[in-house]
Amino acid sequence: MGVDRHDSKLIDIYGDKTAKAAPHPRVAYQREIHPRQVTFTCAQCGQEKTQWRYPGAPPRYCSDECQDGARRAKTRERVRRHREKKQAAEASEGEKSDEPAEKTLQVSLWLRVENNSNYIG
Ligand SMILES: [Zn+2]
Repeated sequence: MGVDRHDSKLIDIYGDKTAKAAPHPRVAYQREIHPRQVTFTCAQCGQEKTQWRYPGAPPRYCSDECQDGARRAKTRERVRRHREKKQAAEASEGEKSDEPAEKTLQVSLWLRVENNSNYIG
């Protein structure tokens, strides 16, 4: 990520707003843009960085690693929410067909585990 301060690139400027929507937009002229120094705080690692960037929206991440990390975190979060939703659905389903016998069995199992742990040490 990031660009060298000496890098520049040509961007196409279209004649007007509707020109871009045309099937074969005609480029009116090209403009050379230069990177400028941008100081920003990385949304992933929280470090303040100053990097050479092309003008536009300020960067959110300082490196490919941070961008990747943020993407993975988002995926994890999505999966977690999905699981929670699924578990909530299953739990409400379980309430409908409540079986007290099963609950009693579970409690007695817990008690046994607790009693056993008392013997250790
Ligand atoms: Zn970062």
